[in-house]
Amino acid sequence: MPVDTVISGGTLVTARSTFDSDLAIDDGTIVGIGDERAMPEAETTVDASGLLVMPGVVDPHVHIDDHVSLDSYETATAAAALGGVTTLIDFAWQAYAGDDGPWEEEGTLREGVERKRESGEEALVDFGLHGGVLREDSDVFDELAALVESGITSFKVYTTYEFGLSNGFIRELFERLGELDAVGVAHTEDDSVCESLTAEFRAAGRDDPEWLPLARPDYAEAMAADDLARLARETGTKYYGVHTSCRKAAEALGRHQGDGSLVRAETCTHYTTLTDEVYREQGTLPRIAPPLRTEDDVEAVFERLRDGTLSVVSTDHVAQTRARKEEGKWWEDPFGANGLQTSLPVFHHEAVNERGLSYPFLVRVMCRNPARTFGLPGKGALEPGTDADLVLFDPDETYTVSADDNASVADYSIYEGREVTGRVIHTYLRGEPIVRDGELVGEPGYGEFVRRDCPVWDDD
Ligand SMILES: [Zn+2]
Repeated sequence: MPVDTVISGGTLVTARSTFDSDLAIDDGTIVGIGDERAMPEAETTVDASGLLVMPGVVDPHVHIDDHVSLDSYETATAAAALGGVTTLIDFAWQAYAGDDGPWEEEGTLREGVERKRESGEEALVDFGLHGGVLREDSDVFDELAALVESGITSFKVYTTYEFGLSNGFIRELFERLGELDAVGVAHTEDDSVCESLTAEFRAAGRDDPEWLPLARPDYAEAMAADDLARLARETGTKYYGVHTSCRKAAEALGRHQGDGSLVRAETCTHYTTLTDEVYREQGTLPRIAPPLRTEDDVEAVFERLRDGTLSVVSTDHVAQTRARKEEGKWWEDPFGANGLQTSLPVFHHEAVNERGLSYPFLVRVMCRNPARTFGLPGKGALEPGTDADLVLFDPDETYTVSADDNASVADYSIYEGREVTGRVIHTYLRGEPIVRDGELVGEPGYGEFVRRDCPVWDDD
C-alpha cells in the first residue's frame, strides 16, 4: 500500500539539526524520515528541492474573536496558515461585568470555553485554549479540575487592566493549579505604577505616543514578573510569563529559574525586531502593552533567548483596524498588534539572517518549545508518529511585508515595508496542504480543537 505523500528533496530542520532528507506522510502522521531510496511508494510526491522542511509553528499566545481582537476564527487562522502557524493557543475568557468590558453579566470559565469552541468550528489550523481568569471569585476554583480534564491545562491572569487580579487571589489560584499539575500564565505589569505614571503624564499634557513606553516602564514589568514567578515557586506551580519585553523583566525571571524551579517565559516577535522608535514613526498604531522598548532591551531579549531564560517566541496576535488604532490616545484601548501571518518570516530574517542564529534554534523557540511547554506532544516536531504539520520555507526568496496581503481583518502591519528574505511556500496540517505556493487552499473547519496534556517540564 502506498503512503499518502512523500516530501522529496528538501532540507529538514529539527530542534537539533539540519539535514537533507525525504519525509513520508500517511493518515496525517509522519511515518518515515530518510533517504529517497528508503521511502515507500506514495500517492503524491511533493518536490521540496531548495526548500526547508520545518515543523509547523506552534503559537501559544493568540487572541481571536473576543473583547480584544476583531478576527473571526476563519480570518485569524487563514493568517496563521499563510504564516506557517499550524497550531495556536487562544484564550477562553471568564466574563466580567465592568466599565470597559464587552459582557453584560458575569459568566463562568466553562461558558467561555463553549463560546470559543463554537467559534473555533471554522478554524483552518488546529487550536487549543488557555482558561482566562478575570475575576476574583473563588467559584472558579471548582471549575478547574474538569477543565484540565477536558484538555485546557493552562490558565492566564493579568496583574493590570480592569480585570487584573491581586497577588493574594493569584496565590490561591496558583495553589490549585499546582495541585492539578496545570500551568499558571501571566501578563505582568505592576498596575499601580503604570496607572500613576499615566495619570501624571496625562495631567502634564504629554499626549504624544512616545510617552507610552515611559508610562508602562520596564521596571513595572520586572516588579510584577518577579512577584508572579515568586508566587509560582512558593506554591509549587509551573509558571509561564508571557510577552517578556525587556532586560529587567528577563533578569527577574532568570533569578527564579534553576534549582528545579518551574519558571518559563516567552517573548514576542515584535520585541525582537522593533524599538520605541516606532512611536515616533507610526504614532499610536503600535500601541501594545508591554510597549516596545530600547535597542538595549532588544539585545537583552536575544541574550535571554540564547541562554534559555526565554524559551518561546509568540505573536500575541490581536486584530484591530487602523482606524481604531489611530483614533485614541496612547493610554486608550485598543491595545495589541497583528502578527500571525508575518511572525515566522520576520523573526527568521532577524534571528537567522541578521544575527546568525541557527535553524534548529528557530525550530526550538517557535515549534518544539511551545509544544512541549503546553502539553502538545504530537506537535512542533519532525518525528515519526507526530502530526504531519509542516512548513516548506524558501530561505532565499525576498519580499516586502505589506498589510495588503493580510488575511486577518487587521488592515495594517507594524512591519509594513520591511524587506525580509525567507518565505512560507507551502503549509501542511495533518498531512493536508492548507497553503500551496503561497496561496490559501485550506478549508474552514479542517482545524481541530486540541486537548492538551498537563505538561511535564523536567524532560528537556
Ligand atoms: Zn496577549
